Amino acid sequence: MTATTLPIRAKALELADAGQLPAYVYDLADLDAHMAAVRAAMGDVEVYYAVKANPDPNLMRVIAPYVDGFEIASGGELAHVREHFPDSRIALGGPGKTDAELFADVYRLHIESPSEIRRLFAAGRSADVLLRVNLDIPIKGASLAMGGGATPFGMDPDGVVECLEMLAGQDAVRLRGIHAHLASGLDAPTMLELADAILDYARGLGVTEINIGGGMAVSYSDPESRFDWQTYGAGLAALRRSGETFRIEPGRSISVYCGRYVTRVLDVKRVHGELFAVVAGGTHHIRTPATKGHSQPMVIDEPGEPTTIVGQLCTPKDTMARHVPVSLKAGGVVEFLMAGAYAWNISHHDFLMHPKPTFHYIG
Ligand SMILES: *Cc1c(COP(=O)(O)O)cnc(C)c1O
Repeated sequence: MTATTLPIRAKALELADAGQLPAYVYDLADLDAHMAAVRAAMGDVEVYYAVKANPDPNLMRVIAPYVDGFEIASGGELAHVREHFPDSRIALGGPGKTDAELFADVYRLHIESPSEIRRLFAAGRSADVLLRVNLDIPIKGASLAMGGGATPFGMDPDGVVECLEMLAGQDAVRLRGIHAHLASGLDAPTMLELADAILDYARGLGVTEINIGGGMAVSYSDPESRFDWQTYGAGLAALRRSGETFRIEPGRSISVYCGRYVTRVLDVKRVHGELFAVVAGGTHHIRTPATKGHSQPMVIDEPGEPTTIVGQLCTPKDTMARHVPVSLKAGGVVEFLMAGAYAWNISHHDFLMHPKPTFHYIG
């Protein structure tokens, strides 16, 4: 199917006619089909959706039937999941937990430091915990690294040993296993190599529940290239021994593709020889291109001279895409792709007090 025949495209053009831009448009049928494929590929591996990628309940309702639970990292996300999905399993992690977060009654608690164990003991709490380990192993090609060296995430193996010593000889805080979310942006073969190293470590400790994290690669420069879930699922199935529970917690690779940020061109101008198109809205609605320093991929209807597309904010950081070979005119519609994760919910909405986008769901 070409972009012009997609239902999400038709919706974008309808919103333009109705004067409702800028807008986020989510294709829930597309998300449903993607989730079904991920679920099938992962077989017996438990899948938890990392809520921070996009906590929109309309998306989470599509995702929920295909996942074993939700991975969260704040009291806000906890309240949100409890409100909308009261029966779902929750794994709670995050590097700095308040008492309310640390003492929450959840299915699994991911321990980030030995002092979290001491706080649980001091408060007389019981919990089912996974120790989050940061293994000192080389991680190649990651877009974000949470492990493989000194970071504030999880513990080094010495910290894990300190926890194990404290946990021995008591049964209020139950050791269920190991958690390792080491990096984001890795392809399936690299993820499998990492999983192998994490498994070696976990088996050495004698635990059987292993959460190997999220971070499956998405490519903003090539939206058609997708993470190879088949290879990953088959690879994990081959690694798993009987009695072991494997769990993953993807976020971006789940929700990124189903959303578009649609806006219209306000002005086109040439400055010192370079062509700029200024669109309504900008990175206060979709901070992704500013945080990642990339060009947000977009639909190109008519090729043209390289154009830098910026938003309405009075800062050079408000750049959506650089030197895109596209012909744009004032009043024209612009559709940015891959806006379903780490987009609206990570953005600085109130900066400059522009109106908020409208939100639409199809499928
Ligand atoms: C952010 C995060 C995830 C999800 O990462 P993605 O790159 O969105 O897949 C999973 N686990 C933890 C602990 C995280 O912090």
